[in-house]
Amino acid sequence: MRILLVEDDTLLRAQLRTALHGAGYTVDEADNGRDAQFLGETEAVDAVVLDLGLPVVDGLTVLKRWRAEGRNMPVLILTARDNWHEKVAGIDAGADDYLTKPFHLEELLARLRALIRRASGQASAVLQCGDWSLDTRSSRVTCAGQPVALTAHEYKVLDYLMHRPGVLVSRAELTEHIYAQDFDRDSNTIEVFVGRLRKKLSSSSASARIETVRGMGYRLVPP
Ligand code: CA
Repeated sequence: MRILLVEDDTLLRAQLRTALHGAGYTVDEADNGRDAQFLGETEAVDAVVLDLGLPVVDGLTVLKRWRAEGRNMPVLILTARDNWHEKVAGIDAGADDYLTKPFHLEELLARLRALIRRASGQASAVLQCGDWSLDTRSSRVTCAGQPVALTAHEYKVLDYLMHRPGVLVSRAELTEHIYAQDFDRDSNTIEVFVGRLRKKLSSSSASARIETVRGMGYRLVPP
């Protein structure tokens, strides 16, 4: 999953970046409203953390423009303390959730997980497909109750598919959602990650499997 992080405070942005990477997300960053708007319009982000007080163009304006253009990715806004007007304006402009500074990183991560879950129609923090299980809180994956060790990229591919069981996902879409904008992307690596996932996650009759749809992409198929 890919997060667009928009925050002009360098120190806070670094803390957020570290926390997001630690939680298994790919992160694109902007430190002003103009760059943020552009990234939100051109990149396949799964959620946005948007500070409202930004240079060049303020966060509220950016959010309104995205929504006016029909961009519906989940947006969590960061607001200044004791500014309830900002929260109301943000929610009215199309924010899905907000956090007031200062906040605990754990709370931000929990709210983000919830936003991403809701956007893909999942209710639980533990995604289950047959005997495969992925805990979005701890990034732990188990197969038939046994822990499975995945690399960061393997996890990102599985996480994306587990949020969309039964849905055909193209290689291009997977590539877009696991690599940041400035990363040298190669959609052939997706095939490698899927191959490794198939090896690591056994496929008994109770298991899900990752089906290849020739020329189209992949689909997570429940047992
Ligand atoms: Ca700010």
